[in-house]
Amino acid sequence: MLSFQLYQLQQVDTRRDQLLREIQALQAQLADREEVVRAEWALTRAGEKVEEARRVLSSAEAEAEAVRAKLQRTEQALYDGSVRNPKDLQDLQREAEALKRLLARREDVELQAMLALDEAEQALLAAEEQLKMAKARRRQNEARWQGELDEKQKALAGLDARKASLCAEIAADALAVYEKLRQSRHGLAVATVHDGACDACGAPLTPALLQAARKGEPLAFCHTCGRILYVP
Ligand SMILES: [Zn+2]
Repeated sequence: MLSFQLYQLQQVDTRRDQLLREIQALQAQLADREEVVRAEWALTRAGEKVEEARRVLSSAEAEAEAVRAKLQRTEQALYDGSVRNPKDLQDLQREAEALKRLLARREDVELQAMLALDEAEQALLAAEEQLKMAKARRRQNEARWQGELDEKQKALAGLDARKASLCAEIAADALAVYEKLRQSRHGLAVATVHDGACDACGAPLTPALLQAARKGEPLAFCHTCGRILYVP
């Protein structure tokens, strides 16, 4: 019976459409490496921040060291007896005091820079761990997705073969009508009939149409949605 053959073909095509969508989605997932790329980018950024924090620290160290050396020279001049003039000694004393205050500020900056470097290094370690995890997740997912993809492609090949053998038994003009309806009716060319109504659009069938649909050949079409009718 022609309507039954087309109904079988419709079932194969519906399953095939679904499989093709699933295969496409899996291929898109396999191609999408965004999580790993983002983790790699974050790691690069964290590495740059550590480098920057190191530069800041070494310049803070150099600045503190310069003040420390200057203070040492001033204190040496104060205490080694080379300066005897009370006015000069007083100036040196004042300079030493000012240098001590400056050194305290410089050392504070140095300490802040050390803490910032420490924080940046922690962040780098965390970023390395994140990337490791993202890659591990990716590997795991990839293996699973690839397995699913292989299975679906095998199922698709089976459906292709089934479709070919069904098509070989159906007249070319009926196939052309079927394919045209598939294109214009969201992939569904054949509608089943239950309780005297079209399952696709819900419209009730006239008794004459129902009788024609039962015969199944020549094809009967729903008066409302235009699909081929098949009565199971
Ligand atoms: Zn209908």
